[in-house]
Amino acid sequence: MITKNRGQFKLKLSDLFPIQDRLLHLIFPATCIACKAELSASDTPLCPFCINDLDYTHFEKYTESTTLEKLFWGRVPIEQAYAHLFYRKGGSTQQILQELKYKFNAELGRNFGNSIGNILREKKEWMDIDVLVPVPIHPKKEFSRGYNQSAILAEGISESMSIPIHALGLKKSKHTESQTRKGRFLRWDNVKNNFSLSSQTNWDGKHIVFVDDVITTGATLESLIRTVLEKYPDIRVSVISLAFAA
Ligand SMILES: [Zn+2]
Repeated sequence: MITKNRGQFKLKLSDLFPIQDRLLHLIFPATCIACKAELSASDTPLCPFCINDLDYTHFEKYTESTTLEKLFWGRVPIEQAYAHLFYRKGGSTQQILQELKYKFNAELGRNFGNSIGNILREKKEWMDIDVLVPVPIHPKKEFSRGYNQSAILAEGISESMSIPIHALGLKKSKHTESQTRKGRFLRWDNVKNNFSLSSQTNWDGKHIVFVDDVITTGATLESLIRTVLEKYPDIRVSVISLAFAA
């Protein structure tokens, strides 16, 4: 009997995972990260209503400089800047950022990266990008978080725009002990000036795009761009961020 039926139950390994997903979904129904409504098995971490209702910047439709581009005026030269969502305290964008940073929701990050890439690949000013560079986070944070959220976004953008990613390494500081006693801002200040470029890195003449999860004052990016421009004065730099606190 068992032998007779065996053929009917032949499953490829790849077939097993959707079943596993469906079973898990029955036991723990997934909920939308913004409105907590129950999601159908095929939904992304956000329900269709919330996806439609997000605080989109629509910067891709602007013909003049955006508020994000103006943020860098007089500080560092950038070609262009794009942010997908506006960040407002208590809004859905805040929930999305928290989900990305603290809940290991890599799928969400990759989905947003894909959406951003799908928008920008249609725009001629974004067609000559050579490299995506995720804004690095402190290695300790990356270790405890399991990933760098900006790198996850960059992966999604890279997928839909077919542009390679070049990760910046951060050098370990010799003064870690004393740094832990300093304030958070100062500590990051030390770190961001300590990133390393591998010996293979050659960005001469390239158009590089920094990818960040959220831009508020722009100070981190300003510092990174300044440092990169010191080493490669003839590169062009642009910026992509999931969110912008306007
Ligand atoms: Zn929802």
